[in-house]
Amino acid sequence: MSRVNGLHHITAIAGAAQENLDFYAGVLGMRLVKRSVNQDDPGTYHLFYADAEGHPGSDLTFFPWAHMAPPRLGHGLAVEVALEVPGGSLEHWGARLERYGITIGTIERRIGERVLPLVDPHGLRIALTEPARPPLRRFTPWEGSTVPAARQIRGLYGARLWERNPQATAAFLEQTLGFNAFATEDGWTRYAAPGAAGIIDVRASPEPRRGAWGVGSVHHLAWRVDDEPHQLEVRSRVEAAGARPTPVIDRFWFKSVYFTEPGGVLFELATDGPGFSVDEDAGHLGEALILPPWLEGQRAEIEHVLPRISLPTTRFAESSTHDR
Ligand code: ZN
Repeated sequence: MSRVNGLHHITAIAGAAQENLDFYAGVLGMRLVKRSVNQDDPGTYHLFYADAEGHPGSDLTFFPWAHMAPPRLGHGLAVEVALEVPGGSLEHWGARLERYGITIGTIERRIGERVLPLVDPHGLRIALTEPARPPLRRFTPWEGSTVPAARQIRGLYGARLWERNPQATAAFLEQTLGFNAFATEDGWTRYAAPGAAGIIDVRASPEPRRGAWGVGSVHHLAWRVDDEPHQLEVRSRVEAAGARPTPVIDRFWFKSVYFTEPGGVLFELATDGPGFSVDEDAGHLGEALILPPWLEGQRAEIEHVLPRISLPTTRFAESSTHDR
């Protein structure tokens, strides 16, 4: 069976773009690898944060829709994003986050792994996670980061989903996308594609209502496929399972297919290539506004409506005294 290769990216909804940039590039030290626009709503940025090279599976992306209300928590929603950090780094992270006034929880254990929960400035729940197993994905440290290479975020670790009917989602994950369930704890069941980075934790929703997107919620989860033939193969399996996938959409840095899983969470199948350096120099990713070719003709209007943003300054860099 042709399964997906774990997580490709996760996209969430943010508030003001500059605050989002300050937190993810400044405080968390991720690299802004693409500064673009939402292709369906080009008056809104699409900001991509990743490792230095933007490896598939390392990127968390945002639509800053500052006018939206907060999300309605409920079933059919991804309620938390987990980011992978190096073993033994959580105490440093906790201290750093506190210095910038970020709301953090206490370090907890989830299925044998240490996790530091926090809430980003716009309400998105993030779980910094020290994985128990060796890395399953390539990582390139970002030398321009505000965080030393030894503690930098390694990319996406996974996400948590609330579902009304977890069995229906489980059957879809296992039979259609090729995930295996490998642990259950505190009501959460964890699924992963064998040998691939990116887990998904599913539980019965504690809220009887349907969840809805808002500022601080996850918008969709994208799963890796090798190339277009693999994408079409998985797409036909998704269709055979009763979901209604979109046609292949060219997102320029990858090709995408979207569908909702049985519980209503929006999923995407995204190809590994061509990648973020297809349209700008790898040394200068994220510095300029990049538009897909079909929007270039509207560049002046688009730049006029987008808020001005600038890369975080050195005020976010760890000083040498904090670096030990
Ligand atoms: Zn996407």
